[in-house]
Amino acid sequence: MLGGFKLYRCGDLAYLFVPSFATTGLVAHAFTTRLGGVSLSPYSSLNLGLHVGDDPQKVIANRQLICEALGVDISRLVAGQQVHGDKVVTVGAAHAGRGATSEGDALPGVDALVTGEPYVLLSSYYADCVPLLFLDPVRRVIALAHAGWKGTVQNIGIKTLHHMIEKHGCKAEDILVAVGPAIGPCCYEVDAPVMKAVEMCLPGGSVPACSGKPGRWWLDLPVVNYRLLLGAGVRAENISMAACCTACRDGLFYSYRKQNGSTGRMASLIMLK
Ligand SMILES: [Zn+2]
Repeated sequence: MLGGFKLYRCGDLAYLFVPSFATTGLVAHAFTTRLGGVSLSPYSSLNLGLHVGDDPQKVIANRQLICEALGVDISRLVAGQQVHGDKVVTVGAAHAGRGATSEGDALPGVDALVTGEPYVLLSSYYADCVPLLFLDPVRRVIALAHAGWKGTVQNIGIKTLHHMIEKHGCKAEDILVAVGPAIGPCCYEVDAPVMKAVEMCLPGGSVPACSGKPGRWWLDLPVVNYRLLLGAGVRAENISMAACCTACRDGLFYSYRKQNGSTGRMASLIMLK
């Protein structure tokens, strides 16, 4: 167990899943690790990011490996060109394949994807930023949101939730959320502008951070997202937290900070069956 997530091994491949999502029987899903792929250092080995300087053929081979493990063809994958923004879009069968094998046709400027259609594999890519996964088992709607500090303070988690409610008829109290592995408060040092931005968006001003050197803080960005989602009506018992730090666990995960920017990407993947 890694907090509220479980590690699954399938040959050399290792990925995490969320037990509360799995028990619904409605989705295929994963949060990948760096284990089990074909990429070479510094991307070794299951790099799923096409935009980080790795050999694209190796990245596509890695994407095929994880798609195979989930029982879906890579042509069903949809990706956004993540820009640390707050744009949320609903996608469907017509978008299947966008960004699957080339970054150039990924959906521009999109950091959150929503669908109510089966066999559309939503994907989102990470090395320290906070992965948010959503599943409404009542309305059968899923979503992914990419929440680094910029996305977090632009409320991408709440905007994704509201999109599910307004466009798909979901209710906040039905929605299961998983907060995946991200850089933890042990390793995520931030400056005053970041702290100020987080203080502006968190209700009650209770920012989960400890002060460090003068003008520096150790921020718990996954918990910031947890508190924002609670404030928006998600039930505490419906939120699963991975609670493991990507920088501390850099043998298992890619970490942008730990590897000074030269590294691969894990992916959140989810599809309605
Ligand atoms: Zn750490």
